[in-house]
Amino acid sequence: MSIKKNLDEIRKHIPAACTLIAVSKTQPVERIREAYDCGQRIFGENRAQEMSAKFEALPKDIAWHMIGHLQTNKVKYIAPFVTLIHSIDSIKLLEEVDRQAAKLQRTIPCLLQVHIAEEDTKFGFSPDELSTLMASSFWQRPVKVAVKGLMGMATFTNDDQQVRREFKALKTLFDKLRATSLPPAVEMETLSMGMSGDYRVAIEEGSTMVRVGTAIFGARKTAHG
Ligand SMILES: *Cc1c(COP(=O)(O)O)cnc(C)c1O
Repeated sequence: MSIKKNLDEIRKHIPAACTLIAVSKTQPVERIREAYDCGQRIFGENRAQEMSAKFEALPKDIAWHMIGHLQTNKVKYIAPFVTLIHSIDSIKLLEEVDRQAAKLQRTIPCLLQVHIAEEDTKFGFSPDELSTLMASSFWQRPVKVAVKGLMGMATFTNDDQQVRREFKALKTLFDKLRATSLPPAVEMETLSMGMSGDYRVAIEEGSTMVRVGTAIFGARKTAHG
C-alpha cells in the first residue's frame, strides 16, 4: 500500500471534528514529504533532536507535535517551533516548557498525559495527580504554557473491550475536568487518544485527535518507536 492510499483510507474514518496526526518517528524526510504531498500538514515525533532535524529539512507550513516522553534537558531543541506537546507527564516538565517558552517570548500549547492503561508501563499523571496539579501554585503567576486538554494511551492489547474501557475513563475524566473551574491557562478542548490499532474505537469514545503512524507509513524498521 502507498502512503497516499493509506491516508485516503484512514481519512474516510475520521470525522471533521477529529484531527489526524501523522506519526513520522523513524521515517526519513522523503517519506514525510510524500505524506506532505498528499496534503498532510501535521506530523508527530517522539524524539526532540530528530524532530528538530526534520523541522529544518522540511517545509515550514508543517505543524510539529511532540508525542513521546520528553526529557527536561531536551525541551530547548523543540521550544522554538513545536505546535503542541502531547506528552507533559510531570510538573517538572511543565515548568521547564514554561521556562523555555518565556525565554522565547512565545506561548507553547500542551496536553497533559494521563495514565489510563491498566498495564503500568506508560507515562502520565494519575487522575489524583492531575487534581493536585490543577490546585498547584504553579498557576498563580502568568505562565507561557497553554494547556489545551489531555492525552492518553490505551494498553497494547487485542482486547477491544479493555481499550474501550480505558478510553471511556479518559473521556469521563476530560468531561469532569471541563466542568470544574480550571486555572486561566488551562482549557479542555482537545482529547488526544487513538493510534493505528485503536483509533476507530477512540473516535467512537470521543477522541478529537488521533496519532497514527504504522497505518500510514507501514511498520517501522527500527526498534526505538
Ligand atoms: C508511536 C506512537 C504512536 C503511533 O503508533 P502507531 O501504532 O504506529 O500508529 C502514537 N502515539 C504515541 C505516543 C506514539 O509513541
